[in-house]
Amino acid sequence: MLKIAYAPVYKYSLPDGHRFPMIKYELLPEQLVYEGTVIEENFFSPGQLVKEEILLTHSQEYLHKLETQSLSKKEIRNIGFPMTTELVERGKYIAKGTFDCAMYARKQGVAMNIAGGTHHAFADHGEGFCVFNDIAIASNLLLSQNISSKILIIDLDVHQGNGTAHIFKDEPRVFTFSMHGEKNYPVRKEQSDLDIGVPDKTEDAPYIALLKDTLPRLIEDVNPDFVFYLSGVDILATDKLGRLAMTIDGCKERDRFVFEQCKRYNIPVAVSMGGGYSEDIRFIIDAHANTFRLAQEIFF
Ligand SMILES: [Zn+2]
Repeated sequence: MLKIAYAPVYKYSLPDGHRFPMIKYELLPEQLVYEGTVIEENFFSPGQLVKEEILLTHSQEYLHKLETQSLSKKEIRNIGFPMTTELVERGKYIAKGTFDCAMYARKQGVAMNIAGGTHHAFADHGEGFCVFNDIAIASNLLLSQNISSKILIIDLDVHQGNGTAHIFKDEPRVFTFSMHGEKNYPVRKEQSDLDIGVPDKTEDAPYIALLKDTLPRLIEDVNPDFVFYLSGVDILATDKLGRLAMTIDGCKERDRFVFEQCKRYNIPVAVSMGGGYSEDIRFIIDAHANTFRLAQEIFF
């Protein structure tokens, strides 16, 4: 049975008019149950990370500032959410969810987090709606517990996984692959192990061709025993923050190809949702739901 990490705490209360569509974390599980893709039993509530687990990835100073609510105004502005203890606690549940998904995926091939993909969080600071880096935390836990020895991070959110790239720049056991809009945030890109910046207005066919040309070779070269997939849907043409021109079907084809490759090479994959900022929430939910629909179709 497909395991999906979710807890009500994922939906953080934001002031009216905030540009982050927080409601997706409530609507997505509802949609998946409503349409019959999953049942309630597919969901599990992650626990919380303990301090030592977070410190494998984040600096003591940064964690201390989060715990004591003493980030500067500028640091809080860079994260982009009102800073409260609730936001910090929420981040710990989400990151634990990604780690739990990794453990389920090892048994079942795939597992998915309703949130996560907070790839703009660095070891010592957060930015771009990201407080903790869930995939980095989960990767470091897999490595430290000798569960995994070579991890491939496939980051197909429209924004570069800058925090993830920086965290693992000197870690040969983690290969960071980011395919993103060349002109998108962040303006100053970090160096992933493999970066592919795609031009503005890239449509389905060239995007999918590029992915098909890259991913199988990459999997063979890196030879990972585990994959984290960041399936942001801000590649859609309708996205307010993205600059690409993908359709919902193109986005689905992307997910299908990633899942098929993981299955073909028999590598477990844990999925974190990542971004999605289309004006119409239905596009966001439908594109994210496709990732879950495909996981059910391909792995179960
Ligand atoms: Zn994004």
